[in-house]
Amino acid sequence: MVVDSQFPDQSKHLIDELKKRSEKLFKLLINTHHHSDHSSGNISFKGIVEHVPAHENSKKNQENAAKQNKSEDKQLYPDQTYTNTWCQKAGKERICLYYYGAAHTNGDSFIHFEHANIVHCGDLLFNRRHPYVDRGAGANIKSWMEVLNKALNKFDEETIYVFGHAGNGYKITGTSDDLHKFRDYLGNVLKFTETEIKAGKTKEEFLKATAVPGSDEWKGDGIQRPLGAAWEELTGK
Ligand SMILES: [Zn+2]
Ligand SMILES: [Zn+2]
Repeated sequence: MVVDSQFPDQSKHLIDELKKRSEKLFKLLINTHHHSDHSSGNISFKGIVEHVPAHENSKKNQENAAKQNKSEDKQLYPDQTYTNTWCQKAGKERICLYYYGAAHTNGDSFIHFEHANIVHCGDLLFNRRHPYVDRGAGANIKSWMEVLNKALNKFDEETIYVFGHAGNGYKITGTSDDLHKFRDYLGNVLKFTETEIKAGKTKEEFLKATAVPGSDEWKGDGIQRPLGAAWEELTGK
């Protein structure tokens, strides 16, 4: 089983390495969402994976992006989609995908390996790194906070979480504490944006900000991505 496929070169490399350990076909290639750093390597699994599950909107977004980029011949699309929950047994493990609403896109899944109690968050969690907020694919910061709350209710204190991205020097795995911190960061982004709108700032002035008050662990480049998205979400433009 594989979660996300990065780009074609990386997925080919992964497949070659795994083939050294077993000649068995891949049972599942699960996509957390459609972005090309998570699904454009799907094509390397063509003919050697049994099924590719993903949220229904992830499949739609992948199709739309491929059409726009004229790369439809380089895609392997999900062949099993779901709306709220998808579960399947695999050996001693049971894997469940959960969709809790719009967040980083409108098609992000949490992938729970129940016996191992490991949850792959895809890009639902950027660990101490400013996130991409794909409003063109239905992202919503306020809803993202609720999505994280639902995950915190569903999974437990023992759960190990895998993150889509992390800032320099930060880990790509963690605990519920990291979900709390990221949810609070998103709240601070919205609060800061609202304050600056009320203070009469222009969007251009606002996007020059270099920090989100209250979340100083989030440093480095890319701050304009969440700030721009929050501005559009709150002003409608
Ligand atoms: Zn993404
Ligand atoms: Zn990503």
